[in-house]
Amino acid sequence: MKRKNILKKILCPAIAAGLVLSLTACVMPLGQTKDLTSQSVEYVVANAPQVSSRKVVIKASPANIRSGAGKKYSVIARTSKGKEFAYLGSKKDKYGNVWYKIQYTSSKTGWIISSLGILTDTATTTTTTTQASEQPSSTTAVSSTTSSKTTTTTAAAKTKNVIISGNPVNVRSGAGKNYSKIGSTSKGKKFTLLDTKKDSSGTKWYKIQYTSSKVGWIMGTLAYIEGEKNTTQKTSEKVAYLTFDDGPSINTIKILDILDKYNVKATFFVIYHGKMKSKYQEIVNRGHTIALHSYTHDYSKIYKSEKGYYSDLNKIHDYVEDVTGVDSRIIRFPGGSSNTVSNRYNRGIMKTLKSSVEKNGYLYHDWNVSSGDAEGRNIKASKLLKNVKSGIGKQKVINVLMHDTGRSKMTTVEALPSIIEYIRKQGYSFEAITEDSTLIQHGRK
Ligand code: ZN
Repeated sequence: MKRKNILKKILCPAIAAGLVLSLTACVMPLGQTKDLTSQSVEYVVANAPQVSSRKVVIKASPANIRSGAGKKYSVIARTSKGKEFAYLGSKKDKYGNVWYKIQYTSSKTGWIISSLGILTDTATTTTTTTQASEQPSSTTAVSSTTSSKTTTTTAAAKTKNVIISGNPVNVRSGAGKNYSKIGSTSKGKKFTLLDTKKDSSGTKWYKIQYTSSKVGWIMGTLAYIEGEKNTTQKTSEKVAYLTFDDGPSINTIKILDILDKYNVKATFFVIYHGKMKSKYQEIVNRGHTIALHSYTHDYSKIYKSEKGYYSDLNKIHDYVEDVTGVDSRIIRFPGGSSNTVSNRYNRGIMKTLKSSVEKNGYLYHDWNVSSGDAEGRNIKASKLLKNVKSGIGKQKVINVLMHDTGRSKMTTVEALPSIIEYIRKQGYSFEAITEDSTLIQHGRK
């Protein structure tokens, strides 16, 4: 999967920050007490004893970290869903938005809009990065490395090893797919087990001593504990991305309710609908990915020139950021990247745009399963389900195209429960698209 350099450059500091913070969570108060106290003068809501123990968990990707409590302040870093930062205080801007001050690296603080973060209670923040049980007295972050080494040498009787069964397997900075990838490993490799944890969807993760100085997390389904029966092993993982284009609409809430009922997260490639303003935030609030489709959806404007394309894309990008706070970099071209209609306005423009958006830090997603709901008005629900069934084939990762377009797509809403049930029955797990997701792009393998 191709990632853009620009994106990488921007994301790396934030990723590193997330890693450092997750490792140092229990230490921060010791080293930083003085700092925090001196800074607390400017906090509106913070109260000193809580400062050290509360966290802000990022709930959408990507999220901008700014130098001050307001959108007018510069973006100093970007972070992503699932990342956790020490909470330092909060403040309201003049529009009434609440901003959280966070410790985003060990030496830097920043601000994040509250619509993109969940502020945890003191009680829930203490044990997210517990050390292996062999080190009850472990109190400092630095010991994370040293203490786990101790495990392998002095507590041999208690040491368990994890053997990798998948190939290749990502090693991540935390127990969840939302955490950044810090490396990869392959089938048959053995690592010391440091901890086990379940993520919010109930998937088990193993904390391993990845290198002599680094720890990491691997998904439980891709490894097993040495000597224990390998029951959870799966050779492959099937992922389904449900995607809804052209919304929001009068159907959005109905779609969100169905997704909630099935506990499924999806992706909405939105366009501009001034009358649907509140629905953009609702998509984000319910944990889905809001992504960019077009402001006008007018091919004659979008595909006339590269300039025309960006003027439209920037408008929807900024509108979405204004109403939700999400700085989305995930896009879908109107008509898909393989559309030929664009040739009417500018021959060969898609080739130009495909490479151009990547250079500009955007990730474009097409689809590999179409519900066919765009082929007419209210195509029978049974036909939509049939299209999905025949479109899946043997594909391991599926991106299912549907539309959130109001009255002409009522049957999409009607078909959605049966589509979800069918896909789930085939063994797929549903995920919202993030910047780490597999790119399904027409004409690219
Ligand atoms: Zn569209």
